[in-house]
Amino acid sequence: MRVAVIGTGYVGLVSAVCLAHMGHTVVGVDQDAGKLAQLQEGQSPIYEPGLQEDLTLAIGTGRLQFHGNLAAAVASSGVIFIAVGTPSLPSGASDTRAVASVATAIGAALAGDRQPRLVVNKSTVPIGTGARVQDLVARSAATGAAPPPVTVVSNPEFLREGQALWDSYNPDRIVLGSDDPAALLTMEQLYAPLIKRRCRGCDVSHPGPIPLIKTDLASAEMIKYAANAFLATKVSFINELAQLCDCVGADVTLVADGIGLDKRIGRAFLDAGIGWGGSCLPKDVSALVHTASSQGIHPRLMEAVTAVNRDQRRLVVRKLQKALPVLQGRTIGLLGLTFKPNTDDLREAPALDIADELIRLGATVKGFDPYWSRQDHWPQPLASIQPCSSPMALAQGCDALVVVTEWPEFKLLDWEQLGREMGGRRLVVDGRNCVDGAALTAAGFCWQGVGHNPPAR
Ligand code: NAD
Repeated sequence: MRVAVIGTGYVGLVSAVCLAHMGHTVVGVDQDAGKLAQLQEGQSPIYEPGLQEDLTLAIGTGRLQFHGNLAAAVASSGVIFIAVGTPSLPSGASDTRAVASVATAIGAALAGDRQPRLVVNKSTVPIGTGARVQDLVARSAATGAAPPPVTVVSNPEFLREGQALWDSYNPDRIVLGSDDPAALLTMEQLYAPLIKRRCRGCDVSHPGPIPLIKTDLASAEMIKYAANAFLATKVSFINELAQLCDCVGADVTLVADGIGLDKRIGRAFLDAGIGWGGSCLPKDVSALVHTASSQGIHPRLMEAVTAVNRDQRRLVVRKLQKALPVLQGRTIGLLGLTFKPNTDDLREAPALDIADELIRLGATVKGFDPYWSRQDHWPQPLASIQPCSSPMALAQGCDALVVVTEWPEFKLLDWEQLGREMGGRRLVVDGRNCVDGAALTAAGFCWQGVGHNPPAR
């Protein structure tokens, strides 16, 4: 099939690459001239494991191109994906202006057109947006004649940054929402190579096809929010328990293992730490809270989930204050700055909030990040954090280190040497419970995890 993907960010670019490897002819469109120039030179503007290689291969097949002409891309495609950003507005509601502007541009490009086409919404959008997109396309295409035969489908995306390609080739399920059975059938055909696990990147050892959920527009839109809200709830739940474990001397990791073996609960997303961040969970939970409130429903649980998460970020600072205890004039080193490992994404990264709070309290903050410390430039969101080129450079002169992101390489750090670089005090707050606390204690460190500490006697 001929496919256009409007918006080539984390979701759009990965989807475009994946669709090309499924055998479709894909054109990616973006309004960001810098991003487009990089893509046209075959360079990925974002870091995601395996993406550069799969992008190069897809371009090499001749089935993937990028350009800035939305109208031309729409006119030449039977399936048009919308994958633009939907950040939070100050009110907490989802900002759908980019989606609306793309829907209007699609309509304008199709004025007078009689070819049946699908507009597929991959952006995470509030319930009801699919119907609005349908309306915007029709109104913008209105020429006095009948509107173009365009059907809107909701196809929410569930990929995880840091393993986006794997997730795109091997999704746990594909969700398709439309009130038109023919549109759902076309989408099923589009995804057929993936559903049968017959395209590059698919886990062929997996016994069955990928489950397909076909539903109506509103339910598909709701599934995306429900999934993210539930994941955020699991994390906040274990984090609240971790605070209690810290007080009573229980070990939250063992508690998570103990409950996670129960099939009704499951172990995933039960790792205590400094809470959830990133470009999705915070904005999606807040958009769901906003939607519920606008419907006259008090979203008590979601509000509590958000409040627990906010407290969890302050926990690191509280642990530092307890151990040091005055932060004025101290130097704190942050290990890991991205919101999770194996990504370059700093959106809603806990490191940013933690650094702000430490600086407010008079501390100097240094940072080492396995991705950003190896780039030519230190990005603007990290401007208040002093860049360090290695963990050893970070440790020099630090009063404490905080593990903020669980990059795998932090498990292999030479703590003896780090301790020597730190000089006097050897304090580590492990915000992800990801380093070997026993080994650190043996190396003379004061190690503080989340939900792992014996009660004060
Ligand atoms: P992003 O900011 O990385 O990418 C959005 C892209 O759209 C940018 O490149 C931007 O330049 C482009 N764009 C904006 N307006 C445009 C226009 N009018 N015409 C052409 N291009 C335009 O965002 P993202 O992280 O890829 O997220 C996209 C959507 O997918 C969001 O709704 C998000 O909630 C959802 N989502 C994201 C993830 C994730 O992990 N990032 C996972 C699932 C769902």
